[in-house]
Amino acid sequence: MILGTDERSIEKAGKIIAGGGLVAFPTETVYGLGASAFREDSVKKIYEAKGRPSDNPLIVHIADVTDIDRLTAECSEKARALIEAFMPGPFTVILKKSGAIPDTVTAGMDTVAVRYPENETAQRLIRAAGVPIAAPSANLSGKPSPTEARHVIDDMTGRIDAVIDGGSCDVGVESTIVDASGVIPVLLRPGGITYEQIKSVVPEAVIDPNILRSLDEGERPRCPGMKYKHYAPEAEVTVVEGDMAAARRKIGELLEENADKVCGVLTMSENAYDSAVILCGGKTNREYARNLFAMLREFDRLGVEVVFAEFEERDGYGLAVRNRLYKAAAQRVIHV
Ligand code: AMP
Ligand code: MG
Repeated sequence: MILGTDERSIEKAGKIIAGGGLVAFPTETVYGLGASAFREDSVKKIYEAKGRPSDNPLIVHIADVTDIDRLTAECSEKARALIEAFMPGPFTVILKKSGAIPDTVTAGMDTVAVRYPENETAQRLIRAAGVPIAAPSANLSGKPSPTEARHVIDDMTGRIDAVIDGGSCDVGVESTIVDASGVIPVLLRPGGITYEQIKSVVPEAVIDPNILRSLDEGERPRCPGMKYKHYAPEAEVTVVEGDMAAARRKIGELLEENADKVCGVLTMSENAYDSAVILCGGKTNREYARNLFAMLREFDRLGVEVVFAEFEERDGYGLAVRNRLYKAAAQRVIHV
């Protein structure tokens, strides 16, 4: 069922969640696939619908900061400062969990990830459901996250009860995750709230070094999501990173070498190529973040086999875009 954002639709969607069903909904980051965070049976359905490994925990979405007290066992001064600064917004905080959250939500971990989205439709849905909503991104596991309702429909038709169509997501990449369950807050996933913003509130916060590299065999990450190859389209992606003039020359060579394949280029500028499917990610990293997942899906739809992605760090969204690009490219990166 495809629902709108009118009052009746949101009420209906809230009832589906409260009754144990699954509803995909827009947020400012990406579309989420929601179930009641208090119902183990419903949360299990999320893992089934996505084909998600059961050791990859979900984020619990709230629409009132005071709900955090119910979901968590302790919240440090630093965690409180981060919550105060960045909620509501594209930000997730990890805290020690309370007994109210079933183990299925947190994949057996003793911590819980909490987010208070800024998107008004998401807030109205959470309030209509009357319970916190556990939700990962609403894509099939391994596919790029959905940033429009049609991406959810492509992946999830027949697997969920409803999708609320709230248009395109503004940020376009998943929330910034900070683990504030220990003494020193750690940035686990870059997103719409930048590392600089986090440090302006908690100067001692550090970046998890795994953000821009792949894990070694058998290595256990702090953030379970890190170990999975995410966001990957069918096409083979290679990132060409650095000075744009040099990147363009390099991609020109790569297009010649791959002339027997259907090639695509994801650009940060006006079209500088003549023998490929060209999609523009955006001139700023912020725009690039907003377009990235939709473009990866579009290359697949067009039957592109090989994608070369230009990348240059230009603003605070650079780390988030680079992290998602490296994952889509399974770490195939050429520095120029
Ligand atoms: P998704 O919304 O699909 O990006 O999935 C939620 C992400 O949050 C996953 O990558 C998880 O690894 C991460 N996450 C959720 N709960 C925790 C937790 N308790 N500790 C660390 N990471 C978490
Ligand atoms: Mg996801």
